[in-house]
Amino acid sequence: MDCIFCKIIKGEIPSKKHYEDDRMLIFEDVSPKANLHYLAVPKHHYATIDNMNEQDQEDIGYILKKIADLKDMLGLTNGYRLTINQGESAGQTVHHLHIHIMGGQNLGWTDFRKQ
Ligand code: 5GP
Ligand code: ZN
Repeated sequence: MDCIFCKIIKGEIPSKKHYEDDRMLIFEDVSPKANLHYLAVPKHHYATIDNMNEQDQEDIGYILKKIADLKDMLGLTNGYRLTINQGESAGQTVHHLHIHIMGGQNLGWTDFRKQ
């Protein structure tokens, strides 16, 4: 399977990793959209939140709890934003489910209707 994030998980593509265990990985987004921009990914490949099985659902809960537990270590003590781009109109480009973690600044809030 030709999946960039599976290759990052296997170490075949280098990344700046901040946390790893047997279920998930947190690494820096190569093209940051905030002062701090990480990606949290389940190690099990599935493309979108439309494709989750029961184990995948548990992985997402596990990842959210882990992000909360690691927020200080990630420099996100004052808050952060989590985003999942799901599907075409949301601009999903990598089809291995990932949660964007953004922070390190005041993020504001975008009115997407103005675009
Ligand atoms: P999406 O648009 O699918 O929600 O987000 C994909 C994200 O993956 C983008 O923010 C993009 O910058 C990031 N990305 C794409 N390729 C790589 C890569 O090879 N390494 C890292 N660290 N991030 C990547
Ligand atoms: Zn994958």
